[in-house]
Amino acid sequence: MRLSQLPWTTLKETPAEAEVVSHQLLLRAGLVRRLTSGIFSWMPLGLRVLRRVEQVVREEMDRAGALEVLMPAVQPAELWQETGRWDRYGDLLLRIHDRQQREYCFGPTHEEIITDIARRELRSYRQLPVNYYQIQTKFRDEIRPRFGLMRAREFVMKDAYSFHMDQASLEETYQAMARAYTRIFTRLGLHFRTVEADSGEIGGSRSQEFHVLADSGEDAIAYCDGDQYAANVEATPSLPPAGPRPAPTTTLETVATPGARSIEEVGAFLGVPASRCLKLLLVEGSDGGLVALALRGDHQLNAIKAERLPQVASPLALASAERVLETTGVPTGFLGPVGLGLPVIADHAAAHLADFVAGANRGDHHQTGVNWGRDAAEPMVADLRNVVAGDPSPGGGGTLDIARGIEVGHIFQLGDKYSRAMNAVVLDQDGKERVMLMGCYGIGVSRIVAAAIEQNHDENGIIWPAPMSPFDLMLLVLNPKNSDAVTAAAERLYAGLREAGIEVLLDDRDARPGVKFAEADLLGIPHRLVLGERGLKDGMVEYRQRRSGAEAKVALADVDSFIRQQLANDTGA
Ligand code: ATP
Ligand code: MG
Repeated sequence: MRLSQLPWTTLKETPAEAEVVSHQLLLRAGLVRRLTSGIFSWMPLGLRVLRRVEQVVREEMDRAGALEVLMPAVQPAELWQETGRWDRYGDLLLRIHDRQQREYCFGPTHEEIITDIARRELRSYRQLPVNYYQIQTKFRDEIRPRFGLMRAREFVMKDAYSFHMDQASLEETYQAMARAYTRIFTRLGLHFRTVEADSGEIGGSRSQEFHVLADSGEDAIAYCDGDQYAANVEATPSLPPAGPRPAPTTTLETVATPGARSIEEVGAFLGVPASRCLKLLLVEGSDGGLVALALRGDHQLNAIKAERLPQVASPLALASAERVLETTGVPTGFLGPVGLGLPVIADHAAAHLADFVAGANRGDHHQTGVNWGRDAAEPMVADLRNVVAGDPSPGGGGTLDIARGIEVGHIFQLGDKYSRAMNAVVLDQDGKERVMLMGCYGIGVSRIVAAAIEQNHDENGIIWPAPMSPFDLMLLVLNPKNSDAVTAAAERLYAGLREAGIEVLLDDRDARPGVKFAEADLLGIPHRLVLGERGLKDGMVEYRQRRSGAEAKVALADVDSFIRQQLANDTGA
């Protein structure tokens, strides 16, 4: 491709709306353009990156025996009603209707559609297992679209769905997908980690996520180097503290704490660490009343664990300040377990506290020296919190650390959740109808592009991992207008490299060299050749590697083999 023929606009300034570096650089390098909130266009250079990611994904899915299909983006409501998700999926689902007022959605995922295909196409156990996949545009009306391509509303996903006669077969394909994902993210040059996950809205049993490690990641990953345990914090159990709860040593006292509502304010006011304060959160119960969840002041509620409790409404809903006041007569910030009159469920660590600080159930007052059993009724006890660094690993081999991750892939064993609801059956060896088991396997194809930039950039711009770079090589021509000889040599070089199968971006624009160098760095193609009048006189071009900054002068006659060698180094060949 010739840059002289590409209307390419880069930005010097960082766009104000872009919070994370991938979003900034995607916009600055002119790879994507925002149409509206969470919806982006892929510009010519950006689309080449997306296509290369797709290609690696496609090759590895094909290698693993999956079959590519392409399903519609628009899906009829009836199928979603069969599984009950038309109501349950909520506002994430973009609902639309046609001129007959029939209801549809723009697919956020395709379990219903593929299960409908499977129940029509598959008749016999002999046809199983089968694994269908597609690379396709999804829409999810995310509450907070942000971080550019990382949490978009419209995005490209690879989704795959497998069908089986029995659990052993499902397990086999699930493991094959785990291996394929490992190959995909390795080939793409990403630093990633495979972690145990919560199976979430899609439901089912076993599930693992693949996370690209980056500080900007929205997910927290708990891991332990001692025992190789790794899980999304959402799905990491916290172990109860060892030993019995300490016995009470102080008396219960009520103290005025005017205006001190938050744990920080109360702790500071009383000179007590957050770990000795009790935090009470009132949430909607499953029976229509309120339930109090008790946590240590320095711990965070884990919503997934909480909404799994039978007493708590799912999805989790914090009680509004008005509802709290109406039910308890206490303004938020001053709630405590002594005489609360609501069911209390305490996290293991909160239930282990003695002589702690809590709200006094009276405005502007707290209590000190509170003890379970003596002052407040013994609570129900459950695992309610997120693990923190230093907690013991559930694997038993050390303590946990926490890292940030970007979820780029997710594999699930769905079991018969969808196939049973939609009666997707085949005939078994005895001619009896059997409900198929299913697995599903997603990759955030467009999110990978952003995640790669989060991991691979410097102050000058993007540094593409070679397999997803828009081009293999940038050939930058200095002042082409000034010299016919330079232009002719550049054309020969460009043609020769392309004939050798190398994808070259030719910067033949009549622009200042400083601008061209800066834009080359911004775009981040791993290898760059510069051809100018002075070098040409000596029969030389200048080579520079984007990542290391390593430079070399290369004789024109040797360029082909030199570049081939550099590209081979990229792929580790
Ligand atoms: P998240 O927890 O990030 O919202 P999810 O668990 O809801 O994602 P899945 O249903 O597992 O997502 O979808 C498969 C993959 O699609 C995810 O692993 C992720 O890489 C990608 N993905 C999901 N939502 C988005 C989004 N809003 N923008 C870009 N990619 C997304
Ligand atoms: Mg997921």
